[in-house]
Amino acid sequence: MTPDQQLFEKVKRDDECCHEWGYWKGTRHSCAKCDKTFTDRPTNISGYGTRNPDFTTPEGFFWLWERLQEKGWQDIFRAFLWKEFHTANDDLSVFRSGIPVEFINPLKFRAALMEFWGIKEDII
Ligand SMILES: [Zn+2]
Repeated sequence: MTPDQQLFEKVKRDDECCHEWGYWKGTRHSCAKCDKTFTDRPTNISGYGTRNPDFTTPEGFFWLWERLQEKGWQDIFRAFLWKEFHTANDDLSVFRSGIPVEFINPLKFRAALMEFWGIKEDII
């Protein structure tokens, strides 16, 4: 499973599918897991492709952020960000003040989430 697939699976809603390369149905291509069909060609055979959220974009950032809150991860993740990247002190009040501003950045947010959950980048 790729890092993005792992992130997706951590926070997805019950009805959401991290679509994977499936098979052609006429001119459409279907997901191997849920059978939903698409007109676009998957970008890579490992499966994440264009049909799933791109966590390097603002849309992907908000997709992750919304689901972190829905799943109740936001407080512990915020605490992780402040503690890991900002301060070694135990001033818990700072943890309630949002996420450090530099993590309002899709790439840094994705990387921090991967570190939070111990997800390793694929080695190519
Ligand atoms: Zn699917």
